[in-house]
Amino acid sequence: MELPEELLSIPYSRDVPFRKLTTLGLGGVCRWLFEPVTEGQARRFVKTCRAFNLNYRVLGGGSNLLALSDVTVPVMRLALPKELSVTENRVYASASYSHPALARDVADMGLSGIEWACGIPGSFGGALRMNAGAHGGEWGRVVDCVRFLTADGEIIEKKTAISDFSYRSSFLAAGHIALGAWFDLTKGDAGAIKKKMGEYLSIRRQRQPTGRTAGSVFKNPPGKIAGQLIESAGLKGVRIGNAEVSSIHSNFLVNLGDASPSDYWELVKYVRAKVAEAHDCQLELEIEVWSEPKAIF
Ligand SMILES: Cc1cc2nc3c(=O)[nH]c(=O)nc-3n(C[C@H](O)[C@H](O)[C@H](O)COP(=O)(O)OP(=O)(O)OC[C@H]3O[C@@H](n4cnc5c(N)ncnc54)[C@H](O)[C@@H]3O)c2cc1C
Repeated sequence: MELPEELLSIPYSRDVPFRKLTTLGLGGVCRWLFEPVTEGQARRFVKTCRAFNLNYRVLGGGSNLLALSDVTVPVMRLALPKELSVTENRVYASASYSHPALARDVADMGLSGIEWACGIPGSFGGALRMNAGAHGGEWGRVVDCVRFLTADGEIIEKKTAISDFSYRSSFLAAGHIALGAWFDLTKGDAGAIKKKMGEYLSIRRQRQPTGRTAGSVFKNPPGKIAGQLIESAGLKGVRIGNAEVSSIHSNFLVNLGDASPSDYWELVKYVRAKVAEAHDCQLELEIEVWSEPKAIF
């Protein structure tokens, strides 16, 4: 695919395997990976794609993503400076900030309120888009104002309400790109904050596999827990090629080493079909699937 000159003035790499771009560690090749280092470059990316009617995708830390095929459309991964500014209890972090590092860094400053975020991988931008959450906390309840780029390339600062977020989604899903966000924390004791984070991490170590995964593959259906439905359908440990339903947490499907995208995808579909059969319940994907052509689920 030929791309306009305006895009090629933004830092980019060619033919990067999704193995290196995602926590799952499998998939095709990202043909065009653009990594704007300024908001201006990110704007130029979006405006140029818009002007040339080009589809594009946005990548964060790749921790919620299954890339089944090569992706030929331009992919943008923000490489903005990792900005963290704190005034009193008010924090601004840029979207490129590592999500677990953000939780650790504010804890070091004795700021409490996002201890729950410490074990969730990826970028802050991806976490805002996904309304990432754990242990009863989620971004929708914490964030106050989001700075983002619209699909027209305009930069907007939006004061957010809880209604802008939902279970593993947010208003950003409408094609907006998070550039950063403000949120208010409370002053606390750094030792106590880190102790809480240590407890959360220890729970994760006990309940989640350590191999290559994308976290929970399916959303919890209302009033139910996807992992329990999968386990009670007898699927724990089921394997297709080198893709396996974790025996520690059934909603985690693990790439055991060199699982092929098709092994992994077949396992996802198999689990969903078996759960539908056993429980009359259609599981919805929590992970995002990138595929050309679009994968049928
Ligand atoms: C071991 C493990 C444990 C996990 N535990 C949890 C958990 O407890 N709770 C939880 O909620 N999730 C969990 N996850 C899933 C994942 O970490 C979160 O969804 C995370 O917030 C995704 O962020 P990311 O930067 O990796 O996004 P990516 O996977 O790169 O992208 C996810 C989505 O966000 C979009 N996106 C990325 N950056 C931006 C941006 N700047 N602006 C707009 N959209 C953007 C992408 O286009 C895509 O739609 C876990 C994953 C793993 C591997």
